[in-house]
Amino acid sequence: MKNNLDLKQLDILTFAKNASALSGEYDLASFTRLRQEDVRESTNEAVTWSLRGQEIKSEGGEAQIWLHLKANTHITMTCQRCLTPATFDLDVDRDFRFVSSEQIALEEDDENEEDLLVIDRKFNSFELIEDELIMSLPIVPRHQSCHNAYLESLAKENAQSPEFERPNPFAVLEQLKKPTNH
Ligand SMILES: [Zn+2]
Repeated sequence: MKNNLDLKQLDILTFAKNASALSGEYDLASFTRLRQEDVRESTNEAVTWSLRGQEIKSEGGEAQIWLHLKANTHITMTCQRCLTPATFDLDVDRDFRFVSSEQIALEEDDENEEDLLVIDRKFNSFELIEDELIMSLPIVPRHQSCHNAYLESLAKENAQSPEFERPNPFAVLEQLKKPTNH
């Protein structure tokens, strides 16, 4: 979508009132904070994202200012069980309501399911996308099943090299018990 809106200095109020929308694609590499998490260097994955502003007029009351965010990417981290690369889908789909002050945000935070943010005429929505991606990272990255190709190739290698062969302790015991059988 072509427009002259600056993602890092978004006038949230105007964006919502105009029901504007923005979408695009960034390289994963441009999210420096995200890269500092235990994210492996991987092929240059793209982050696709979209933002949509919305003003909801309420009877009598003040109009509500909303921002809807979607972002999606794949990320490679180290599996904490087998220590090999594991890829995860990150899927962000969140709604934010903007209020006029920090005070209101704190007061209303418990009553609402949506996230509350303070209205900003120079809102950094790039950082918001990055924050949400970071929050959607797996807490303990793990394969669903660790029987992956890498482990299989390791096992094959081990089976082929004699130095990895260990005597079966039960077989050894049998031999000790019945030395005359041989
Ligand atoms: Zn694993």
